[in-house]
Amino acid sequence: MAKQLIQLRHNLVLWRNLIQAGFLFWCLYLGFQFSRFIAHFVSQGEGPFVARPPGVEAFLPIGALVSLKNWILNGIIDPVHPAALVLLLTFLAMALLTRKSFCSWICPIGTFSELLWRSGEHLTRRRFKPWRWLDILLRSAKYLLLFFFLKLILFGMPAQALKSFLSTPYWAISDVKMLHFFTSPSTLSAVIVLILVVLSFFIRQFWCRYLCPYGAMLGFFSFLSPCRITRDVNGCTACGNCDRACPASIAVSRKQQVCSMECTGCLSCVQSCPEHQVLGMGLISSRRFMPRWLFPLLVLLIFTLGVASGMFNGYWHSSLSYRDYTQLIPLLNRL
Ligand code: SF4
Ligand code: SF4
Repeated sequence: MAKQLIQLRHNLVLWRNLIQAGFLFWCLYLGFQFSRFIAHFVSQGEGPFVARPPGVEAFLPIGALVSLKNWILNGIIDPVHPAALVLLLTFLAMALLTRKSFCSWICPIGTFSELLWRSGEHLTRRRFKPWRWLDILLRSAKYLLLFFFLKLILFGMPAQALKSFLSTPYWAISDVKMLHFFTSPSTLSAVIVLILVVLSFFIRQFWCRYLCPYGAMLGFFSFLSPCRITRDVNGCTACGNCDRACPASIAVSRKQQVCSMECTGCLSCVQSCPEHQVLGMGLISSRRFMPRWLFPLLVLLIFTLGVASGMFNGYWHSSLSYRDYTQLIPLLNRL
């Protein structure tokens, strides 16, 4: 019994799945609260009023990039959706310090995607993999999408255009529009989402691996991270368990340190290694491993510090008033 408890305590994948589930349910709760907030205004004040949860702004990554550039060029933190910028900066800091840990520990879409391929693998008893050439071709799609958004925002919007965009009614209710996209999708959006769900069922992390421009951006930042999966080449028996466990298809067993932009710090490879102290998360240019509990703790700590600093410095709640929402929400379908 004691041995099983110790094994449970050291099961990194189990701990990661629990943290992922916590964030997924938290996001669903935020979405539910936000839909009640909107329902109050749709019913013209007849339904109960609930406070708007600022965390929904995590789903405005493109606007957050505009906001970031506006902050850099104009020195102003957008007061309409300040939490969007706080969360973007938090996720970038996570990537800089703890690789793309946002993707494998926090992102609800990543969690949903993982749930889908695990179910697919369980039901079909097979692991479908695109041909290598197709895999490389598809992987470039997320970088092309990232390039498209960066070109549009970073190179295509001068300082004045940023200010103008952030003061439009469209930006003011972009969070409402985002929820509307999920709750009342158009036929085309529903078909696209359905295709992605089916592909994610058969192919491991289809969305994250091939299409997510946010993950691609975090990948570039993660390149500078001091944390690296490290292998002790002397103790390694070349069993290949780590290669099979890696959702990013990295050949871990052939590297001394993993510095790929695809590594999400999920620690599945570490969990799968049967040898003691052969594979672990380490620091760049060091052969020593961190204690197993340290990496998850760092991920949660950076997230908590990022959000708390936004809250305590007054960059969390929107400047929009009750009256603003009374006027804006009826315009939803016209903006
Ligand atoms: S190398 Fe290890 S930590 Fe990185 S993505 Fe693959 S399994 Fe996860
Ligand atoms: S799982 Fe461990 S022992 Fe097996 S190949 Fe990977 S690092 Fe080597």
